[in-house]
Amino acid sequence: MTRTPVIGFEVHAQLATRSKIFCACANGVGGEPNSRVCPVCLGLPGALPVLNERVVELGIVAALAVDATVAGRSSFARKSYFYPDLPKGYQITQDTRPLATGGGLAVETGGRTFRVGFRQLHIEEDAGKTAHRPGRPSLVDMNRCGVPLLEIVTQPDLTSVDDAVAFAEEIRRVLVYCGVTSGRMHEGSLRFDTNVSLAGEDRAPGTPCEIKNLNSFRSIRRALEREVERQNSVLDGGGRVTHQTLLWDERAGVASPMRSKEEASDYRYFREPDLPDVIIPAEKVEELRANVPELPGAARARLRDRYGLSEDISSVIADERYEVEYFGEMVRAIGSFDLGDAEAAGPACAKWFVGPLRGLAHERGLSMDDLLGSRLPAARLAELVALRASGGLTETAAKTLLGHAIDSDEPLADLVRRLDLAQLSDEAELATIVASVLEANPGELARLRRGERKLVRFLVGQVMAETGGRADPRIVGELIEAAAKREDS
Ligand code: ADP
Ligand code: ZN
Ligand code: MG
Repeated sequence: MTRTPVIGFEVHAQLATRSKIFCACANGVGGEPNSRVCPVCLGLPGALPVLNERVVELGIVAALAVDATVAGRSSFARKSYFYPDLPKGYQITQDTRPLATGGGLAVETGGRTFRVGFRQLHIEEDAGKTAHRPGRPSLVDMNRCGVPLLEIVTQPDLTSVDDAVAFAEEIRRVLVYCGVTSGRMHEGSLRFDTNVSLAGEDRAPGTPCEIKNLNSFRSIRRALEREVERQNSVLDGGGRVTHQTLLWDERAGVASPMRSKEEASDYRYFREPDLPDVIIPAEKVEELRANVPELPGAARARLRDRYGLSEDISSVIADERYEVEYFGEMVRAIGSFDLGDAEAAGPACAKWFVGPLRGLAHERGLSMDDLLGSRLPAARLAELVALRASGGLTETAAKTLLGHAIDSDEPLADLVRRLDLAQLSDEAELATIVASVLEANPGELARLRRGERKLVRFLVGQVMAETGGRADPRIVGELIEAAAKREDS
């Protein structure tokens, strides 16, 4: 029997605020344990929470980015449970009156687009972190207590593991584009809990299991693949899937039962008496709409439609908003160089993103962010691309120039002169070099004359080597062809 996976997510994003959600402690990651704490986030008796307005603003920006409806009035609740890293004994979260409801996200993958609907977006505080040490007492670090989180609860709209991973990647991109979170999954700044069940042919969904603590796209894929397999074999064996919560162990690559799932009533949700309702006037929402940038889907479409880039290159560039912006600056700057039409400028600039720039960043141990952000202004790279496109540089020389361009502010024209990189296109000069290369390779020349065409490429390569990659390969090719014919007649 074929069963279809039914998958939904609860996404937790650490909001990029300066301070925590209910106190003035710094919001951050890592650092000396228990160094960013105060009576409020430690939950000491009598301490009162005060809502950080920035948390609400970032939550609204995210809600607008995914077309959710922001509630004019929302409120906080206490979700009670006991755990050593939750000193108050309850988490302040939003329950029945969340910040926003509805909305969704269109995800493009493999040439098709699907949509995932959202139930709600709400804000809440994070708990601390427990370090379990085999054979020794556990330790708790409360730095993360009170860190602001945005939780996005999706509908169970995903029907394959591939789609689930594509969704996770796209929601991360959207949230990072909006600047609401750093999205650094290895630091725990973006965490995914997933619910998965299997639907039979009658399409009625089965009992879902929840897998918590997914901190990388690879874990999401592996955890879902294994869980689908497990549920299939339980059902194949005539058993029933029971509702439980599994905790993903990143290192071991397995999910193990954490507890059988609580009912909502176990959490004893009730209104948080220490915090007033959050009132959001419509004008405030409209004001914040200006902070929603062009989103990755729109950026990809623009790169394709306006600049004629391929789907693959558009996706690579649109993966990061700063690359899209850098690309835009480059294309604008290139207009001031003599490159002819703007249509050719797009692909000419884009080519550098996928190959040479990533290669150079890797070689120098720099992130693309560092490379593009501070070492190489977009206008400088645009000038280099224009030099190459107008025939002033060969491909090899352009790559050599790139390596030097990031290390100094020296004008490119000076660098080209100093490093002797200008393309050799003087025919007389090239003819002399071609003649000497042909003289040194008589066997290859003879085979070319007998019709072995591939030797043109070989001989052009020899001339390129001779000139340090500076010879104009078109002229060299013509000279070699001409020389081969000359002796023929
Ligand atoms: P709970 O009340 O148990 O928290 P919710 O209805 O709030 O469950 O949904 C929590 C998450 O579980 C959501 O992300 C939702 O998409 C997902 N979910 C709900 N029903 C199913 C199902 N049958 N199969 C898979 N995921 C589901
Ligand atoms: Zn604090
Ligand atoms: Mg729920």
